[in-house]
Amino acid sequence: MPEARQPLSIQTRLLHHSHKTDASTGAVSIPIQPASTFHQKSVDHFGTFDYARSGNPTRQALEETFAELENGTRAFAFASGMAAISSTFMMLSAGDHLVITEDVYGGTYRFTTEILPRHGIEYTFVDMTNVEEVKKAIRPNTAMIYMETPSNPTMKITPIREIVTLAKNHDCLTVLDNTFMTPVLQRPLDLGVDVVVHSATKFIGGHSDVVAGLAVVKDRDLANQLKFLQNSFGAILGPNDCWLIMRGLKTMHARMTLSSATAHDIAVWLNDHPTVKHVYYPGLENHPGYELNNSQAEGAGAVLSFELSDRSAVKAVVEAMSIPVFAVSLGAVESILSYPAKMSHEAMPPNERAKRGITDGLLRLSVGLENKDDLIADFEQAFHKISREKQVPSLKK
Ligand SMILES: *Cc1c(COP(=O)(O)O)cnc(C)c1O
Repeated sequence: MPEARQPLSIQTRLLHHSHKTDASTGAVSIPIQPASTFHQKSVDHFGTFDYARSGNPTRQALEETFAELENGTRAFAFASGMAAISSTFMMLSAGDHLVITEDVYGGTYRFTTEILPRHGIEYTFVDMTNVEEVKKAIRPNTAMIYMETPSNPTMKITPIREIVTLAKNHDCLTVLDNTFMTPVLQRPLDLGVDVVVHSATKFIGGHSDVVAGLAVVKDRDLANQLKFLQNSFGAILGPNDCWLIMRGLKTMHARMTLSSATAHDIAVWLNDHPTVKHVYYPGLENHPGYELNNSQAEGAGAVLSFELSDRSAVKAVVEAMSIPVFAVSLGAVESILSYPAKMSHEAMPPNERAKRGITDGLLRLSVGLENKDDLIADFEQAFHKISREKQVPSLKK
């Protein structure tokens, strides 16, 4: 490729990177290599690949491409987002302490509370938006601070730079779950974060047809540690799934841009609607993290949550809506409506859910690629099904 005149934007780099064509054939799609083992030419010299858990060409193409997109040096592809996250947690050792955001993804909550203590790792949940609280939670043995921003499902914004500064002062690693944003909207390594993790099942894959995870780092030593863990744990992503993720990357910018624009318009509409008690979307000016998010990300993303009066209103709306699928997950071409109390956060005890604002009236919407007016019309007809007395007077703004 001839030298580019200026640094290419991520929109272009999603399509034009070192693996845009296959070096041996010129094919414009990366080949899927299913081999589990590789012939070696001599006892003295082994090739780049020997056994597919340790390295596979299709996976390598994805890992190199993704590292470039996050402005990292190395990326690692895992069998799921949770495989990426739990492998990253295995950088901790017995006796270490973890400071973690209280409104973390439900599966990460489960791993933290039920698996880490068995290995002698302590944890403290904090409101990660409150730097003073994070500072107070740090102990001499704190080895890692784990962020997720925007958080799930109430879309709280963590001040990434401030947490990174705090962590560096205390010699702690920082990890950030960037699933809701993707590198199109937020590049935490540029803000000083050590490890970025993703559920690639969501916006990166984008089509609800693959489960995958990614972890990305800049630092060489951390890269070696993660490589060792990926190979030791063995929760690698298979070659077919690597190919699907590579294909998803090609349209990621287009999907994120359209879905985020539609999410913004729906958030504004919901915010003005008398049936809705509260809207959580960092792209609304009344959101407490609006300015902060703008200072560290290039958009507010395509996920929003909104609160109805109670469970019966949720039931009526879910049953009346015809466009979004009602399902676990997010980040797809089709809009997905989900019920955090019964889905993503079911693993969390009810009192913990309540503390985090995950009420029985809360719904989360991941906006897909449908026409905006069609989605709004679908909400409008569904809200009509809620009985009159459930309509709350507008206290917003
Ligand atoms: C889905 C999700 C995960 C877990 O990813 P899987 O691919 O389902 O294992 C982690 N973090 C966030 C924010 C998620 O949405």
